[in-house]
Amino acid sequence: MTDALGAHQPAARERVDLICHDADVVVVCDDAGTALRGTSVLITGGMIVGVVPAAEVSARLAAGTLIAGEVRSMRRRLIMPGFVNSHTHLPMTLLRGVAEDLDLQGFLTRVWAAEAELMGPAGTRIGARLGALEAVRAGTTTALDMYFHPIAAHEGAVAVGLRHVIGPVFFDFPGPDNLTWAERITLAHEWPAAVAATGGAAVPHALMPHAPFTNGPARLAELAELAGATGAMIHTHASENDAENDQTQRDFGTSPVRMLAGCGVLDRRCVIAHGVRLDDVDRSLLAAADAAVAHCPGSNMKLASGALHWPRWRESGIRLTLGTDGCASSNDLDMFTAMRQAASLARLTTADPAAVSAVDIVRAATREGAHALGLGHLIGMVAAGMAADLIVLDRDAPHLTPLRDPYTALVWSAGRGDVVDVLVDGRWAVRDRVASRVDEQEVLSAARSHVGQPDIASVRP
Ligand SMILES: [Zn+2]
Repeated sequence: MTDALGAHQPAARERVDLICHDADVVVVCDDAGTALRGTSVLITGGMIVGVVPAAEVSARLAAGTLIAGEVRSMRRRLIMPGFVNSHTHLPMTLLRGVAEDLDLQGFLTRVWAAEAELMGPAGTRIGARLGALEAVRAGTTTALDMYFHPIAAHEGAVAVGLRHVIGPVFFDFPGPDNLTWAERITLAHEWPAAVAATGGAAVPHALMPHAPFTNGPARLAELAELAGATGAMIHTHASENDAENDQTQRDFGTSPVRMLAGCGVLDRRCVIAHGVRLDDVDRSLLAAADAAVAHCPGSNMKLASGALHWPRWRESGIRLTLGTDGCASSNDLDMFTAMRQAASLARLTTADPAAVSAVDIVRAATREGAHALGLGHLIGMVAAGMAADLIVLDRDAPHLTPLRDPYTALVWSAGRGDVVDVLVDGRWAVRDRVASRVDEQEVLSAARSHVGQPDIASVRP
């Protein structure tokens, strides 16, 4: 840790909206892995305008040269950028527990049946709201989400305050939402205006082909062209397990990643979920395109899909981000758990305790995710000029004492129960461990009544 800080050039008399004052630690998430002691974060208009020594801020407040709408004490607190969950299906919180102890293909069969029953627009909105609540309470400020009825999902997530990236989902067949291909393309054209109308925090335009095994080459090429013309990013699943690779090989004579590359889908605005089973050629194609792989270790382990080899993927030049996947497969949306799973899995698959550093893992969960979404200029780091997407942890806990290296503590000791406050775009989403913008009990009871009472399906004697 260091006491040195970037220069802040205050006006003679500065007025800000909020000062998060005198944090024990600010985990910056910059390239150097900086952590600052005794620091205040100044916020105005939703943006961080200063990361300043607390002593200097105290002196300026006393002298009246700094005025704040609110000064919130951060003593015994740790401030860091909010997590970017770079692959999830938020509405699937309602499907938590419906498909257990199955491989990917058995899982999809069970889940698609449950979706037909529960996940119309109303269920999607209720599930997204529940998922967003779970996510922000656990320190996630941005999620790359994929689900049918994307407007309903977006409305649900934005109501909670999450920075929510979603877009139209594409299949070669009608899918649970029963839209034709032409209707999906129309939705894609209308998407930026529809998102803007919900009034949420700034997000990129996104197109979401489900996977190469559910979208043929002609359709993928059409979406790549549309993404190029509209500036949209693309998010899709690829190479989650061997059976998926085998199916793509059987149907199209190639691997999922080669197919995406051949259709023009892979570029720096592309995030593929999973990417567990990649050969040398797949990895070099992803690296050359500067596409990101959203690693979802919890889902991959639970479905026994396989183990991503972190050091080899990084040595190939692939940008790695972290995700939880949806609650049907990984059962929760906890990025602290995802960090620890990723770090553990990297070591287990390599028999090397130095396979990945804590700084690398925390950056994958924050800054790398922001870059993958094209939001690296805005979120993922605590620095002046970035949006105030911040989370605050209570470090006054037995499992965080002593707190030597903050990055190590975040990966190996901290958990979602430590998250006290969450700001998205400078607005409170969580304060004192309670959601600020929705009635938590109302969100939970809406979810329970949508899945049917009681929500506990069976109790074995
Ligand atoms: Zn997924």
